[in-house]
Amino acid sequence: MTGSDLPPSHAMRHVRTMCPMNCHPTYCGMEVEIQDDRVLSVQGDDENPDSRGFLCIRGQASREIIDNPMRVLRPRLRDVRTDGAWRDTSWDEALDRIAGAIVKVGAEAVAVWAGHGSIVNTVGRRLAPRFANLCGFQWWEPAIVCWGLGGFGFSLTGPAQVNTKEDMAAHSDLIVLWGANLASQPTTAPHLVAAKRRGAWIVAIDVRRSEAFEQAHETHLIRPGTDAALALALMHVIVGEGLHDPAFVSSHTAGFPELAAHVKQYTPEWAETETGIPATAIRALSRRYAATKQSMILVGGSSMHKSANGWQAGRAIACLPALTGALGRPGAGLGPRHAAQSSGMGTVNIEASERRPPSPSGRPYMISEMSSILDDLDDGRVKVLLLFGTNMVSSFADASRVARALDRMDLVVSHDLFMQETARNHSDVVLPATSWLEETGYKTTNTHLYLMDQAISARGDTRSAAWVMDALAKRLGVVDFFPWKDTDALLTALFDHPVMGHVTPAQLRAQGGYQPLAISHVAHPDLLFPTPSRKVEFFSERAAELGMPPLPVYEPIAEDAPIQPERAGRFPLLFRQGRTLTHFHGFYDHGRALPTLAKADPAPRLWINPADAAARRIRDGDAIRILNDRGTMGARAQVTDRVPPGVVWMRDGWAGINDLTSGARSLPAAAARAFPGGQAAYEARVEVSAAKL
Ligand code: SF4
Repeated sequence: MTGSDLPPSHAMRHVRTMCPMNCHPTYCGMEVEIQDDRVLSVQGDDENPDSRGFLCIRGQASREIIDNPMRVLRPRLRDVRTDGAWRDTSWDEALDRIAGAIVKVGAEAVAVWAGHGSIVNTVGRRLAPRFANLCGFQWWEPAIVCWGLGGFGFSLTGPAQVNTKEDMAAHSDLIVLWGANLASQPTTAPHLVAAKRRGAWIVAIDVRRSEAFEQAHETHLIRPGTDAALALALMHVIVGEGLHDPAFVSSHTAGFPELAAHVKQYTPEWAETETGIPATAIRALSRRYAATKQSMILVGGSSMHKSANGWQAGRAIACLPALTGALGRPGAGLGPRHAAQSSGMGTVNIEASERRPPSPSGRPYMISEMSSILDDLDDGRVKVLLLFGTNMVSSFADASRVARALDRMDLVVSHDLFMQETARNHSDVVLPATSWLEETGYKTTNTHLYLMDQAISARGDTRSAAWVMDALAKRLGVVDFFPWKDTDALLTALFDHPVMGHVTPAQLRAQGGYQPLAISHVAHPDLLFPTPSRKVEFFSERAAELGMPPLPVYEPIAEDAPIQPERAGRFPLLFRQGRTLTHFHGFYDHGRALPTLAKADPAPRLWINPADAAARRIRDGDAIRILNDRGTMGARAQVTDRVPPGVVWMRDGWAGINDLTSGARSLPAAAARAFPGGQAAYEARVEVSAAKL
């Protein structure tokens, strides 16, 4: 569990593991060459059935983590939050300081947030909620920064599971990449190409011309925040022209009469004014979609879900395959999506939520939803914050509000590989973390379970998140946080599940480190859905009870020009963020700590349309300032027609990017409590001007 020393070996070893990034649904296999406890090389694992030898630039760059001179190798703390006040310390002093602060403020004023860094080999992610529950701390889902809202919309409607990429390759005749970007799920790409070779028609819809557009027969640039409007107009045509599947609708859905009456108002002409997509193209897409039984929609992440109405888009899109009867069959329904599971996936639950003590004040625990958290932080509800593998001020919306809240706290702790914006500017204690090769864990894709064995000794005084949580729990009198003999025993407990065939780590090792999951490649094969009626709910009474519209609707985002015309005049450009292949969110000090990534992506670049650039006398490569009434950020201009006029785009994860974005509420409080994991609006309108960096 600790990430301890391994016996030295002078022989060259080839170790099979997984890339440490978390690009779900893409997880890539990696082969590491090791000699004398040093990593000589990393390369793609040709035998990995998911990635088949693929390893992108980020995966290649991961070898620069291990013996990186910028890595944090000893616990460090400071008594005042100034740059020069850091001093190295012992684990005992660091942990005593944290435990002392927790005892002083009481468990209810302590919050735990474990981000992507603790999901690297899954173990920290599985243990963090257990740690919070047993200790009585506040706990927030990692998903509050990315895909949670879209998942909420899908599960509210019903089709929450996804068909696999292998099923798509073999059976889909129409594939709609709706905000899905191949830089976010590269291992889906070969399966897309295989389907295309077989004759499948590919459609790409996004706010920018992403890599997916290059693979598509048909492309649509959509105005940010209007995906629900497009889905409603598609339904208008399908229902209005009688193209739906009456038998499927009658047997497996609820609320069709209400939906049919409701979508009459959403004509393609209306949708054209909202989305910017011509009405003729919307009609043609509706007809093609309804006429193709093996039609699969792959929904993307940031472009849609980092939006106040992203859950409404998810809810509306989820209705489409139910209308045409494209659910529970090969090649149809919904395809790979970030954090969505194939049918049957699961592991044993070790969270111990039933042992979470009542909060001493009697006040309900904080809602794990970004806007609610921001309100509670403003109220001073959290006094000690424990961050595991997350750069909070980089990833939260309305980051300057977060920064002010952190500055008011008694103690902020970061457990990480490198210093980063939050650790550098706001933390009092920084704990050195083991890397993925220095501890044992696992990953599951939608089809396979992979063991990630410890391959080298832990560098310096680094420790795993599991070790840190256990040491703190013991100091606080919780003796059974880690009741397993060792990590293998923990994994044996987690894998004791039918989908994993109750396999043990020893058995996995003996068979090469991985095995297929016992899943169905077709989602919802029994045509039962996780709704109160077990049907797809076009009309959702549950939504109404939670204070939301019972039918799928389109509500323009608050940053829309007609809603805030004066503000739109001052900040005329709609800002969106997303993924490229040269970074993973704010990992590794925004990519600056790994030379390969720093070289590939040296500074923030804002995509801006030539017309918008010319109007501001900005040329390609110019230093610019991006600003609004929340904050300002420096960048370089990338003048490109890959974004339409009025829209600007930047890859996420840069320091300062979320000083620009809105932390406004996306869900009513009742819905946020019922579905913890939703994010704030993340919207932003900005103005851009030439500036010196
Ligand atoms: S796409 Fe790249 S970063 Fe993501 S898991 Fe694969 S190799 Fe790693």
